[in-house]
Amino acid sequence: MQIRCQNCHKPYAIGKEEVHAALDLMAAQDLHHYDTQCPHCRRANHVSHDELLRAAPDWKKPTEAAES
Ligand SMILES: [Zn+2]
Repeated sequence: MQIRCQNCHKPYAIGKEEVHAALDLMAAQDLHHYDTQCPHCRRANHVSHDELLRAAPDWKKPTEAAES
């Protein structure tokens, strides 16, 4: 998914594997956003759960995946 850094305003991408890992982490820890690090300025950018879900619509919560 594409992210625009809130600090330096440069765009950068995070891969689908990282998006899935982030969603897994958020489900496990009941988080509402995830911090990604800008590769240009090293500042953290918050990404909301909804934004991550839009980038990985096939992701399922671990519990839901186990039930289906
Ligand atoms: Zn930046």
